[in-house]
Amino acid sequence: MEAQLLAWYARAGRDLPWRHTNDPYAILVSEVMLQQTQVDRVVPRYLAWLERWPTADALAAASPADVIRAWQGLGYNRRALALHRAAQWIAAEGWPRDLTLLPGVGPYTAAAIRNFALGENVLPHDVNVDRVERRTGHSFTGAAAQALMDLGATVCLARIPRCDACPLQATCPSRGTHDEPTRKQSRFEGSFRQRRATTLRLVAASPMPADGLDREAVDALARDGLVVVLGDGTVVLPSG
Ligand code: SF4
Repeated sequence: MEAQLLAWYARAGRDLPWRHTNDPYAILVSEVMLQQTQVDRVVPRYLAWLERWPTADALAAASPADVIRAWQGLGYNRRALALHRAAQWIAAEGWPRDLTLLPGVGPYTAAAIRNFALGENVLPHDVNVDRVERRTGHSFTGAAAQALMDLGATVCLARIPRCDACPLQATCPSRGTHDEPTRKQSRFEGSFRQRRATTLRLVAASPMPADGLDREAVDALARDGLVVVLGDGTVVLPSG
């Protein structure tokens, strides 16, 4: 089954910029961006990020304010600060043996770095990979990671899989079935997440008096270290 999947991937796999590198820092950047943002939106931001900060040392030397500004539009801004702190860790101490010690790096991202950068035979389990393994009843090796991600994202879709276009249809026991819808993604429009994003965007553009801002959002952003409220009530991005 894996051979069929890999043959399909060689033909139909997506050409994504982070698939042309085995630099662990570049893989880290791509994986953190991809954690909660769609591939199409990540591609241009990833390229711009690496042009601006091509190494962990370069990112470590940046100010948190610049990092937060550069992250605007990707959402879930805490990831920007975690990535910055991870770069500072790497710049100071090198890459830890246990990658999950790095801020913002969980088991999935650690497995992705070990596979895509270090060439280890570990399979990063994201929702797409889990779904294909569950439906096919097959355990794939680390060599199939990118192929599984593409199959799950473009063919073996969560709601209605495109079994007719699937390279595994001859042997997949789930062919022709589909999952019941699970929970809907929470709406961004009108959510507290949106209020936080709007507030951070305003402060990223220029320092603002707290009185003119959504106070609840400011407090939440301050707790996460994404903004600082100065003594005179001005809200600014963190400077160092
Ligand atoms: S045959 Fe259908 S259910 Fe099975 S892996 Fe392919 S797309 Fe998914």
